[in-house]
Amino acid sequence: MIRLTGITKVYRMGDEEVHALAGVDLHIAANEYVALIGPSGSGKSTLMNLIGCLDSPTAGSYVLNGRDTSHMNDTELAHVRNQEIGFVFQSFHLLPRLTVLDNVAQPLVYRGIPRAERQARATRALEQVGLGNRLGHRPNQLSGGQRQRVAVARALVGKPSILLADEPTGNLDSRTSAEIMALFDELHASGQTVVVVTHEPDIAAHCRRTIRIGDGRVVDDHANPPREVHA
Ligand code: ADP
Ligand code: ADP
Repeated sequence: MIRLTGITKVYRMGDEEVHALAGVDLHIAANEYVALIGPSGSGKSTLMNLIGCLDSPTAGSYVLNGRDTSHMNDTELAHVRNQEIGFVFQSFHLLPRLTVLDNVAQPLVYRGIPRAERQARATRALEQVGLGNRLGHRPNQLSGGQRQRVAVARALVGKPSILLADEPTGNLDSRTSAEIMALFDELHASGQTVVVVTHEPDIAAHCRRTIRIGDGRVVDDHANPPREVHA
């Protein structure tokens, strides 16, 4: 599904060069549940932006579902991104004036899907995250955890092959964080490929595989021990 080969990313600022990624080789198969961890500045966000087709590498190749994206222009990359990737961010990024239903339906507008079908699909996505009874609410009438569920529903409504979450629990307390991760656990169990960028070990422990980034390289990559299931 995701195959990165020899990926480097160099940011140029005047005469300065920052080597944010320095030769990353990575394969993530369909239905994996992966945590990307590492200290601040190690290159996690850069790697996420590349995997999410928000940015292109300086060198190396990125093949996503059989398509080599390395030489795509911005328009082609945006097309792949809209088809393949569902994003969840730390800060939710919901539109405050829209209802929960319209926030979730929004990504389908750009695909030319008729309004009735948009609303039906958004309703189903909201039911999937346990918010079928909040369709007409505005984001500010919801708790942080509920807002993040709305963001997850919005990420899922286009049926992306990859759910990509950048510090999805960074603005949530520990109980609410655990609820959001339980939702990701369920999505993974139902077949969704999930990649979570985090610096919190408790969050990474929900995933089945942990990839540690350090100084722009993969410094560790291991399967996580099975989690204890509490009855
Ligand atoms: P992390 O997400 O692990 O904190 P980043 O991917 O954000 O790491 O950053 C990796 C390195 O690249 C850091 O040294 C950071 O300062 C640098 N960097 C990130 N984005 C930019 C940018 N847009 N311009 C210049 N340097 C950047
Ligand atoms: P944080 O997770 O620290 O709150 P953000 O969620 O604001 O940060 O953004 C994380 C990264 O994703 C940034 O590089 C930002 O430019 C990008 N980004 C944020 N929102 C969107 C969006 N709706 N579509 C595409 N990229 C986004």
